[in-house]
Amino acid sequence: MRGVKIILGAILLVILAGGAALYFLPAVQDGVIARIIDRTLIMRHDELLATDALRVAVCGSGSPLADADRRPACNLVFAAGKIFVVDAGAGSFARVAKWRLPLDRMEAVFITHFHSDHIADLPEARLQSWVQQRPAPLPVYGGPGIERVVSGFAEAFALDDFYRVAHHGAEFLKPENGPMRPTEIANDNGTPLTGLQGKVVLEKDGLTVTAFAVDHAPVVPAYGYRFDYKGRSVVFSGDTHKSPGLALHAKGADVMLHEAMDKNIVARMSAAAARLQLPAAQKISHDILDYHASPQDAAETAKVAGVAHLVLTHLIPPIPGWLGGRIFQRGTDMDGVETRIAFDGMLIELPEGSKAIRFDDLGR
Ligand SMILES: [Zn+2]
Ligand SMILES: [Zn+2]
Repeated sequence: MRGVKIILGAILLVILAGGAALYFLPAVQDGVIARIIDRTLIMRHDELLATDALRVAVCGSGSPLADADRRPACNLVFAAGKIFVVDAGAGSFARVAKWRLPLDRMEAVFITHFHSDHIADLPEARLQSWVQQRPAPLPVYGGPGIERVVSGFAEAFALDDFYRVAHHGAEFLKPENGPMRPTEIANDNGTPLTGLQGKVVLEKDGLTVTAFAVDHAPVVPAYGYRFDYKGRSVVFSGDTHKSPGLALHAKGADVMLHEAMDKNIVARMSAAAARLQLPAAQKISHDILDYHASPQDAAETAKVAGVAHLVLTHLIPPIPGWLGGRIFQRGTDMDGVETRIAFDGMLIELPEGSKAIRFDDLGR
């Protein structure tokens, strides 16, 4: 017993001495900083771009209700050696920056709809990929209105661009590669896709991206996206009420990332806001009830579509991971549909030539 106490005391002394050295000695601090700098510069997740699988990373599993652990909507798709972005909510690209991805290989952005929690970090997606030497303008796909969104951001950041090019030089930060290029997804007559409509919007190097209409009324256009690559497939619902178009276009997909609102909790938030005489909070929590899907809606859509694995995301309210998982599925009959709750940093891997669906954590 005495021997154990001596060993524990010695360990405690070493920890205290180390802590004191780190706190008081600049040379020790500099040594730690040097290691962090090297590790940060060397660490790159290039392996995510290997062409042996279709991969998805969740950079935002939340909604406009701010939460430090759940950034608003953001997903990355890795396919054909490129990176594709599906929505870019506020702060989501702070997550992406930490993952040290080769963002020069960002090929395109797909916007589901123009609510702020899906577009606010578009300028960050553009800037981070531009400074990493993206070799061409960045196509940004979206429904009618995408031109207005992109040109608005371009104007807002025109001075920032000017300073950066002046500072780093046009040889390094090529002005011609900086811009986003709006790419409208619409019918031939310019009207948005609606109802059951869908359209292949990109076909390249074995990857097919299909856009389709979902029901987020009064928000029009509102789209979901399906990515097919090497026999594997993933579907993003965007924001939607229960939508037959989504079930149609998600047919047989390996994974569907579907928005989810716990309507019971949101209704209670509305009632509590009324009791506390907070009319703005009451109005908003009441109004949002009618254009989102419940976990039950998502499960029923997944079942109709024959989706192998359902991932609930865009969680309203943004309850923390493990507890959220319990609460969001409470009272829901998942009816045999394999279901998980998304979290910021979730990595989904769908290897080619297999039915495997692997989940991992990239960290936050
Ligand atoms: Zn949203
Ligand atoms: Zn929305």
